[in-house]
Amino acid sequence: MSIPTTQKAIVFESFGGPLLYKDISVPAPKPNELLVHIKYSGVCHSDLYAWKGDVPLPINLPLIGGHEGAGEVVAMGENVSDWKIGDLVGVKWLNSSCLTCEHCMNGRETVCPNADITGFTHDGTFQQYSTADAIQAAKFPKGTDLASAAPILCAGITVYKALKTADMIPGQWVAISGAAGGLGSLAVQYAKAMGYRVVGIDGGKEKGEFVKSLGAEAYVDYLSSKDVSNEVNTITEGGAHGVLNVSVSTSAMQQSLEYVRVAGTVVLVGLPAEATIKTSVFDAVIKTITIKGSAVGNRADTAEAIDFFNRGLVKCPIKIVGLSEIAQVYKLLEQGKILGRYVVDTSK
Ligand SMILES: [Zn+2]
Ligand SMILES: [Zn+2]
Repeated sequence: MSIPTTQKAIVFESFGGPLLYKDISVPAPKPNELLVHIKYSGVCHSDLYAWKGDVPLPINLPLIGGHEGAGEVVAMGENVSDWKIGDLVGVKWLNSSCLTCEHCMNGRETVCPNADITGFTHDGTFQQYSTADAIQAAKFPKGTDLASAAPILCAGITVYKALKTADMIPGQWVAISGAAGGLGSLAVQYAKAMGYRVVGIDGGKEKGEFVKSLGAEAYVDYLSSKDVSNEVNTITEGGAHGVLNVSVSTSAMQQSLEYVRVAGTVVLVGLPAEATIKTSVFDAVIKTITIKGSAVGNRADTAEAIDFFNRGLVKCPIKIVGLSEIAQVYKLLEQGKILGRYVVDTSK
């Protein structure tokens, strides 16, 4: 396989500055890394935050964003042993972690203090060739539709892990706030595939039909509902066993404490800027409610999330555009106009 010396990439040099579509060198993999020919990359909301510098995470400038890259292994460092040239591979948000700290040892590598993050501290997947740590890179079976699989690498893993974090058993109710969005629509499908009963919460009749078509048993429209909490409590006969907050609405997060069931778990996933929620200590103690945060997932979560996708149990509606069109996609993301996921084709 011949590897070119230069490639196309989207580079920005300052926060909110021009997104330059230009020719740069193809990187060389370090001893522990794969060189991946990225064919498709999903565009995630946090790519927009990274570009704007709107997120309290370390970011190295100049930077190539993107952390949902799907492609093929074209080269590898001398210490890599369990990959072959031509293998299909996913480059995800967590590019590498130290594997030796307390968190890594306990399967919480996503909170490793020495984590290297794709599209933040490590040049990302908005380029034709990117490097990825061979241990963290995700394996896709032969024949995987790479364009459709790309969004699983951040959005899919994130909601799957969040559902695991809610600690439910099959047959229990999960309420998903922001159910029609990019994360929400995947969450509904994963939840159903995992055997949970889903009540979706979002705004508008159309979104309700969409959410039900994905497998939600019930829908609460916050735009027309007189009392969202009361409705969820009625549908679930006493509150949802688990709640996934994937929207970026602080008030929706606050409200979820009113419809979580006694002894249930509220999971926070969406990231509204500088948000806080308040809880009554009395309620938290007497109802023994758990509030947890959840961000992406570890290697096992990744493999499991991809397995659900490969068995056809979750589908992410995607729209494919050229890599050169990233700026327009960011505009649409900012305006909240995207249903499903935009995926860029790095050859255009
Ligand atoms: Zn992401
Ligand atoms: Zn670590």
